[in-house]
Amino acid sequence: MIHLEVLPGIENATLIDRDHHQVSRSKISPNALKVLYKLTAAGFCAYLVGGSVRDLLLGLQPKDFDIASNATPEDLRKLFRNSRIIGRRFKIVHIRYGREIIEVTTFRAHHDARNQISDDVSRRKIRGLDSAHSSAGMILRDNVYGNIDEDALRRDFTVNALYYTLDKFRILDFTGGMDDLKHKKIRIIGDPAARYREDPVRMLRAIRFAAKLGFTIEQGTKAPIDELAHLLESISPARLFDETLKIITSGHVVKIFALLLEFKVSKYLFGPTVTALKTAGDTERKLVDLALQNTDSRLAEGKSVTPYFLFAALLWPGLRQRLAADSAAENSYSSFQQAANDSLREQLDYTAIPKRFTIAAKEIWELQLRIEKHNRRSIESTFGHPRFRAAYDFLLLREEAGEQLNSLGQWWTDFQIADTKRRTEMIGLVSNPGARRRRKRKPSSDTA
Ligand code: ATP
Ligand code: MG
Repeated sequence: MIHLEVLPGIENATLIDRDHHQVSRSKISPNALKVLYKLTAAGFCAYLVGGSVRDLLLGLQPKDFDIASNATPEDLRKLFRNSRIIGRRFKIVHIRYGREIIEVTTFRAHHDARNQISDDVSRRKIRGLDSAHSSAGMILRDNVYGNIDEDALRRDFTVNALYYTLDKFRILDFTGGMDDLKHKKIRIIGDPAARYREDPVRMLRAIRFAAKLGFTIEQGTKAPIDELAHLLESISPARLFDETLKIITSGHVVKIFALLLEFKVSKYLFGPTVTALKTAGDTERKLVDLALQNTDSRLAEGKSVTPYFLFAALLWPGLRQRLAADSAAENSYSSFQQAANDSLREQLDYTAIPKRFTIAAKEIWELQLRIEKHNRRSIESTFGHPRFRAAYDFLLLREEAGEQLNSLGQWWTDFQIADTKRRTEMIGLVSNPGARRRRKRKPSSDTA
């Protein structure tokens, strides 16, 4: 083990002893502990860092466990058979244990520009350093990799830059993260505007963490967001999709959306939705709100969420407006297809969406048509469609949002719980192919 006392950069840290923090080893993933111990035994230093330390200090269950080390990606590859180097500009090593992945990064110097030298040059440097490092087992000093204090300073927020070490189970704080944690503050490290310019996604991360942790964004960290939000236009749709996924699955999407609106950032992620909602009716607004609420409550109940469902809801107001503007669309399947494709394509300029999700969102929309205008022939096939359940949930959401759909949701609810005989009866009561369904659930309200 490299003891802290001789770790380069350590002089810049405040050390918090085990008696003064509540991180307990028992809450750390055994696989993360395995990696920490193995690296230490091989003569490297290794720390738990980032969200896991932050969440453990807050008494929350971390989503994943990230480790920072002075071992290079190549060292890690040699040490862990179950590892894989990912990323090109920033190499990260994934160590896989079944379904769990422990992510290990090598200490990096603060300034990203150091890492932005061409791939060739950086690769040469890494290779050169690799051998020197492997034999010495010492902290790297280089233009690419840095010491632990530099690694801390290149992280985004103070509460994300706390390091936990198995060496006397201490926490290392280089940026005042412990204090900010105590006061529930998201504070960016360094000059806020400069750090956002370096990576505009940090603005989204500030908002996400504030919502997720119930923290406030410190004044200086908040101030430049308004002016710099437009820099998000330069971020690739693929990266913005990754960020969107984290937002959707955070369990706090309602709050995040409210903050995104407040900071005028929404339009860089969900441009078409923001535009459509400006002129949308109450039911469409409500549908979006309900879909967001549903997402959070499903996660709170330990259920899974399907991002395509939320995308289907977010793009629904725009789709409806497109259909309304095209008088032929109402009755023509191909105009509907066109409108659906255009709605999705428009969103793809903002966030990428994997094809399987766009297909699923389109299926939800198409099934709305089939569910609405169902006829005898199509009932069974609609019901047997792999996306039926999602489409049915979507239908219920539309009704809950105030759309008048002639108790269709109830009809489908009854149909699902009915036995085969009753189903056949229900189908028999539906009007002829091509015509609208006539029968409602209760005979007393049986109107056309
Ligand atoms: P969670 O995993 O709960 O969403 P996290 O803080 O662990 O939160 P990750 O995206 O897993 O977030 O990143 C791990 C750590 O890497 C962060 O805590 C932070 O220290 C650093 N980091 C991640 N993204 C950035 C960024 N864009 N700029 C600077 N540092 C970052
Ligand atoms: Mg993490």
